[in-house]
Amino acid sequence: KEFETTYPDENYTVHVGHGIFKETLNLYTSRYEDVFYIIDENVHHAFKNTVLKDIEDPVIAKPGEAAKTAEAFIGIVESLLGRGIKRSSLVVVIGGGAVGDAGGFAAAVTLRGVDFIQVPTTLLAHDSAIGGKTAINSRHGKNLIGAFHRPSGVIYDLDFLNTLPESEILSGFGEVYKHALLDSEKAANELMEQTAHGVEAADLEDSIIKGIRTKMRYVTEDEFESGSRKYLNLGHTLGHAIEYEYKIQHGHAVMLGLYAMMFISNEQSESRIFDLEAHYTYLSNLGYPMELLGTLDSGRMLKHMKHDKKNISDASVGFILMDKDFEPFFTEINTDEMVKYIGALKESL
Ligand code: NAD
Ligand code: ZN
Repeated sequence: KEFETTYPDENYTVHVGHGIFKETLNLYTSRYEDVFYIIDENVHHAFKNTVLKDIEDPVIAKPGEAAKTAEAFIGIVESLLGRGIKRSSLVVVIGGGAVGDAGGFAAAVTLRGVDFIQVPTTLLAHDSAIGGKTAINSRHGKNLIGAFHRPSGVIYDLDFLNTLPESEILSGFGEVYKHALLDSEKAANELMEQTAHGVEAADLEDSIIKGIRTKMRYVTEDEFESGSRKYLNLGHTLGHAIEYEYKIQHGHAVMLGLYAMMFISNEQSESRIFDLEAHYTYLSNLGYPMELLGTLDSGRMLKHMKHDKKNISDASVGFILMDKDFEPFFTEINTDEMVKYIGALKESL
């Protein structure tokens, strides 16, 4: 399947399917005199004798988050320059969200910007490869050094997911579920039913495509995050705090953050928008560490949330909730209220 972004200009195509990598990539590479590849080390290892076999002299990036340190990043840029990259070259970035972010940022700043293609290889990267945000990490926090740089195309070959460890599938599914919630109540319920007995990447093709469409809708409406793009942070404010506190995977933390969002949405609206019991059972059965919610320390959570670059005020925390019509909205929750909600959430479990 293929779909086009709907920005006013400089649109690009997102290609999704099985076994589409080589043929689709050729459509792009044939337009450039030279092409440079940045590949996640684990992905290179898994596919170097098959689908990546003809790629000569790729820049191998450290796997995952290790690619996003300043040192690793400069290493990538210097390797591109050492190989003779020109302003007119094409960069192809193959990997999960981390190498996608670092490689995209390398393309954004090398020679002040060269064209690049994203080739996401994880489930989570159905999210990160769309939207044109690129970044590496700072000593002061994640993703604090970066740029907006739209790719010239995204090629999502779902066959890459075959070698992905189960825990990475579960983590990526956190974002798939978030996109379903943002899509509609019906989409979320259907996804929940469909995955009641486990998450298999092979069953998710439709939900992945819907998720990409949902993400695309928000990022084309509001590329630079002055309004509705914020809604993509659903589950993430508390999710990030949980991720830092317990050092669990991003998508696992987001799932816990989504559950907390459901709880607070119900409380604020004094109605039962979400069936919390059903969600708790569903998410624990899938293997998310729901029991951690019972150990949240509201003081530490608030401290982490205030560190989040998206939270500027001291007295309150910006939070995305959902209303009775299943529409997301932005609200400020003050510190006392937040302590109260976290306490009530713990008691409700
Ligand atoms: P990741 O890129 O760290 O990859 C996870 C692990 O899987 C790594 O060890 C990697 O080497 C390995 N891997 C990747 N593809 C594989 C495959 N096909 N087979 C086997 N192993 C494979 O993790 P992720 O969850 O994809 O991405 C997380 C990153 O995405 C974070 O750095 C986050 O900040 C970023 N992100 C960016 C955006 C954005 O809009 N730019 C959005 C969300 C997340
Ligand atoms: Zn996320």
